[in-house]
Parts: sequence; structure tokens; C-alpha cells
Amino acid sequence: MQPKTNQTALFYAPKDVRIEACPMPQLAQSELLIQIGSALTCGTDLKCYRRGHPVLLGDKLPAPFGHEFAGTIVGIGGDETDSKWEIGQRVVCANSAPCFDCYYCHQGQHNLCEHLILLNGAYAQFIKVPANIAQYNTHLLPDAMPFEIAAFTEPLAVAMRGVEGVGVKAGQSVAIVGLGPIGQLMVKVATLLGANVTAIARSDYKLEMATAFGGAVQTVSIAEGFDPQAIKQAFSPDGRGFDVVIEAVGLPETWEKCLHLARKGGVVHWFAGCSGGSTVAVDTRLVHYNELTLYSLFHHTPAFVAKSFEWLATGKLDPRPLISGAFPLANVVDALKAMEQGQGFKYQINEH
Ligand SMILES: [Zn+2]
Ligand SMILES: [Zn+2]
Repeated sequence: MQPKTNQTALFYAPKDVRIEACPMPQLAQSELLIQIGSALTCGTDLKCYRRGHPVLLGDKLPAPFGHEFAGTIVGIGGDETDSKWEIGQRVVCANSAPCFDCYYCHQGQHNLCEHLILLNGAYAQFIKVPANIAQYNTHLLPDAMPFEIAAFTEPLAVAMRGVEGVGVKAGQSVAIVGLGPIGQLMVKVATLLGANVTAIARSDYKLEMATAFGGAVQTVSIAEGFDPQAIKQAFSPDGRGFDVVIEAVGLPETWEKCLHLARKGGVVHWFAGCSGGSTVAVDTRLVHYNELTLYSLFHHTPAFVAKSFEWLATGKLDPRPLISGAFPLANVVDALKAMEQGQGFKYQINEH
């Protein structure tokens, strides 16, 4: 028996999130109703909580939020025999899926799809999953795979694309600046690809995690200031600069400084988005005469979601060290506040 209401965390305004009994979602053809097994907090959710988010939350308030989750299928819209899914299956869903039919999808740029709908509402008992996500970006969990590991599929897909998508290879020197949850996953992915990672951040506990979890070969604290020339001299191979530099902070001044960490012919990836309207000053001589390649990748694609899921399902990457604690759904705001105070990486949100 399904309950008649769905306890859901709703965003009313910055710092005003309420848990309310919402009506159970009605399902259209091929949509799925998932009972959340585990949801995870994410830096983006924290941004939403603090400032709102016009793209993720839309402008219709109150809005449900949370987008990293795995759970059990408890409903299938329309004729169930038309669906590739069955009631009772344990699955993980990405928070979007491309249409495969627009200009960008035809170019293979699925993350830039014109019809990308971002799914929110994982901080709830149940979530309705659109048909295209059910069709193209949902994966069946092996029986032994815990929900909280599966729920890493989306953030790991973003991290993987941010590393593999800029061509990181075995043997390269890679500097990763910013060690939040995604930065940590990027350190781990680059290490697993055989790169030698230098992890750069301000807080010691993040630097320690980059070594213990991510396998960084060295760490650099910038608590006292970020001097890219000094770091390049002291920490990059022969002081020439790093093969690849990834900015995972999302601040314009850090974007600028990262240009100075790369070697001649190197790659700089401005990965973390900065706040709207911000600009960076680029040293044109540096970019041109050093032949820097600049990337700025956004979001994930079904191919990376599938690959991320495979790494998690096979145990190639165990993300659990990044789970700093668990909270019941009723206390999701406490999890966001803990993140705000810089106390942990990710929190698991469970129904009880
Ligand atoms: Zn996320
Ligand atoms: Zn499309």
C-alpha cells in the first residue's frame, strides 16, 4: 500500500526549506515512481539553500530539491508492459536526460541538449522520474549494491567527464584546485587513470582526504594565500608547470590564477561555474605564446553516467569515505547547515 502523501522538502526562499506532505505524483506513460532509498547532499543543493537557483529550481516556488538519489521502483505510468522497468527493481537515475533529437544531440553534445530537463525532488519519500530519464539514464543496481553508493552515479559522472573529457592520461601531472566533493572525486578519478595528482585547497581536512581517499601524490595548502608561480616552481615537474590544471572552486580569481599553473602546451580546465555575471581577465600573451588549451565542461552525458555507474557497481571506486554522516529526511536542513559550516563532504538523507 502506497501512502497517500509524499513527505517532501520544499524550498520557499533562501534558508527557508519546509518538509510538507505533498500529494502523490500522478504518472504519465512510462514515467516511474521511485521510493527513495538514499539521497545525497551536493554542493549545488547548498547553493540552492543559501541563494536559490533559477536554473535548477525554476521560478515556481515552493520547489522540491535534491537531485542525487537511488531507490526502488514502486510505480510505472501507463501500460507497464511498455516499460523496460518492473515494480520492485532497485535503480539509480541521473537528474536529466537528453532528447536525442535536437541539433546538439545530433552533434553528440548531449549535455547541451535543448530539452534537458533537470530533475529535482530527491529530498522526499518518493520522486517521479520523467520518461526520458527512465529510458536513457536509469541503471539497475546489482543486489548487493547499497543505495548510497549508487547515488554517487550523478556526481561521479560529472567528475569523470571533468577529468577524462579534457584528456587526462596515465603519467601526467594534474593539479586540482578546490577539494569539495566533486574535487575529491576528480582527484580519485585522475589517480585511477594513472595521473600524478597535486591537490590544492585551503582546509587541511580536505587535503588529508585528497591523499587518503583520492590518492593524491602531494598536497598544497593555500590557506595563507594562493601564489600560482610559487606553487608551479615548488611542486610541478622541474618547475615547468602542470600538464593539466583543473579549477574546482568556482571563483573568477582562481580561474585566472590557474592559467599560471599550467606548463607550455598544457591544458587548463575551468570546471566549476562562477556566479552569474562574473568575468575573468585573461593574460592573452600567456594563453597564446604558451599555447594553452582552455576547457570549461558542464554537466554529464549518458555515456559518462553509464561509465560512472559501472565503476561504482564493480567496486572500482568506493565513494563512501566522502559520506560524512546521515540524517533523516525530516532533518535535511541540518545536513545543509552542517555542509554550510564546512563540517563534511556529503550527507546521506534517508526516510527515517
Ligand atoms: Zn549534485
Ligand atoms: Zn536534445
